[in-house]
Amino acid sequence: MRDNASCRMLIRLWNSKLEQWDTEEVTVPGKPGIGPSDEYLIVSDSFVEPDENGNFINESYTEEELDAVHAFATARLTIDLWENALGHIISWPWCNSIEDRMCIHLYNELVDAVFRKSEQAIIFGTTGNPPKYTCKSFDIVSHETTHAIIESVLPSIHENAGELQYTLVESASDLSPILVQTSIPGLLKKAIRDTHKNLMETSFISEFGEGFGINKNEIRNALFPELNADNYYQRSTIITNFIYVWLVNLITLSKKYSKSKASKNNSFIIKNLLSAIKYRNQNSLFRLFQNHVSKAQPLHPQQS
Ligand SMILES: [Zn+2]
Repeated sequence: MRDNASCRMLIRLWNSKLEQWDTEEVTVPGKPGIGPSDEYLIVSDSFVEPDENGNFINESYTEEELDAVHAFATARLTIDLWENALGHIISWPWCNSIEDRMCIHLYNELVDAVFRKSEQAIIFGTTGNPPKYTCKSFDIVSHETTHAIIESVLPSIHENAGELQYTLVESASDLSPILVQTSIPGLLKKAIRDTHKNLMETSFISEFGEGFGINKNEIRNALFPELNADNYYQRSTIITNFIYVWLVNLITLSKKYSKSKASKNNSFIIKNLLSAIKYRNQNSLFRLFQNHVSKAQPLHPQQS
């Protein structure tokens, strides 16, 4: 959002058919330097260099290099999503200079994944048995980045949030990776193709953290809200489901789900979620979205 510079980077997405990570090339704002790093983010202990065109798309990256590029690109796309939705630049709550950008720690043995304001970092470790590194997940990296963004927009929300506010924060953080993917035409096209033209079918886009579940493949699913929820993670799936279905209806009804339509919808979702968090009011959120709900239709790849 600061200027029009951009580069190409690789991200990983889980392929549930082949049960492996696919890599996809995406356009990321800015011209990151070695790390990758830029004015927002730096991947710690990583020194991947851009190619002569400023891109990070080398097919022979090591696993660790690809993790670094993927995590940076995912976090950066998430920041861009929120900046475009809100119409202003995100500056971290601790930010005074470029030295204060947020760190991405890829391999920590003590956590699964967490945003830690005191460390000015999003920190990734392992989950599941056998353990898998959470930094490889598009959803999980985007989710933790969203916590940092919400903290920047609503300072101290993580220290002071009540149950309902935390539920809404979790839902907003689960929705970010979905909003990023549905607003990148190539990724949306892939999602529609992979779900046999119906995003109401379980897919990588509705399954949060796919590839990381202990018993199942996903951690949470936007299509199956936990109606007997007893914690805010589970309760958040009700809100996530509501907004996901709303979004898919809009995508379905669009002849062409263009970038500008996506950005309008993302802005509507993000602004209203933030306002619900701020004013502790989920009922107005439900009412607002309900006014826009219409009947779902099967999706067609060319619509993306
Ligand atoms: Zn969270």
